[in-house]
Amino acid sequence: MTELPRPPGCAGFLEMSARLGTDPALVQAAGGNTSIKCGDRMWVKASGTWLAEAGTRDVMVPVRLGPLRERIRDRTLVDAHVAEATEAGSLRASVETPFHALFDPPVVAHVHCVSTIATAIAEDGLDRLTGLLDGLDWAWQEYLKPGAPLTLALAASGAAQSRIVVLGNHGLIVSGETPEEVEATIRDVHHRLDVPIPAPGLDRSRVSGWDETGYIPAPEGPLHDLAVRPDLIELATKGPFAPDFLVFFGPDVRIVDPGATLPARLAEFTEVPAPFNSLVIVRDHGVLLRRDALSGTAELAGALYDVLARFAAMGAPHLRYFDDAEARALLDWDAEKYRQSLNSGNPA
Ligand SMILES: [Zn+2]
Repeated sequence: MTELPRPPGCAGFLEMSARLGTDPALVQAAGGNTSIKCGDRMWVKASGTWLAEAGTRDVMVPVRLGPLRERIRDRTLVDAHVAEATEAGSLRASVETPFHALFDPPVVAHVHCVSTIATAIAEDGLDRLTGLLDGLDWAWQEYLKPGAPLTLALAASGAAQSRIVVLGNHGLIVSGETPEEVEATIRDVHHRLDVPIPAPGLDRSRVSGWDETGYIPAPEGPLHDLAVRPDLIELATKGPFAPDFLVFFGPDVRIVDPGATLPARLAEFTEVPAPFNSLVIVRDHGVLLRRDALSGTAELAGALYDVLARFAAMGAPHLRYFDDAEARALLDWDAEKYRQSLNSGNPA
């Protein structure tokens, strides 16, 4: 990586990337990605790396724009074309690289902003956005699997002509001329869509002592309140509704009752490999995470609470869950498995 050319305007772009990456309301773990274009080349975050580290290690990989844009224009794009367009190096470009190539402006950032996701999982999300984003240049995109399918849909609808695209059940893409402009727009959208949520009341002391079962308490934070909020428990355990929650926790968020049978239930959950059953809510007690969960699961657990607490505070009537085909497509996704292998410290 070190012999490869560095991104132009490197400092400002990498600094913006790191700032976004260290704000848990915008980016969690290896989620989110940024890019900058120069001529026929685009630097984009590498799969499995963390934006938070953009200022301290190489996380950007150069990709040739021409071949990707040609495939998008011809509507022949498939996910494998990302690897073909990537210049030599040890890292893979993000699976979300193609939509970065689609946008004309030089700087693009994609974030899993918790207030945006809280709105974009509502069945009436588009109606809600219409008032809240008034005056901004924005477009809506229904959920599609990230990668080639999402990029081709954004190209066909013309949504990529807007500076802001809200992705149903997923997050936010913002493009602009400078890193400063893009970051300011992201923060403006986050602020407009945000709603106050109740202050946390539970600490993690009530989920300690089960270490022998393969589960450890989630880090201290508001997420333990999931255990005492029946409304949030119902929302969390009904099914997956955003890509990263599914790939980090598996298809089911588990709810268990405390008591004598708890250790046996937990042991049962670990009979299938992670990420299955990575997050368990112990009713009235707090949140446990699998000891062998993917790196970043704690960050995603925090975001699960942040999203659902906002969704509940919005008073939205219905959450749009993934159907079986959407969930299966994400779990079977080769590129996602590669990202997971990087996060588990065991690259494929
Ligand atoms: Zn994403």
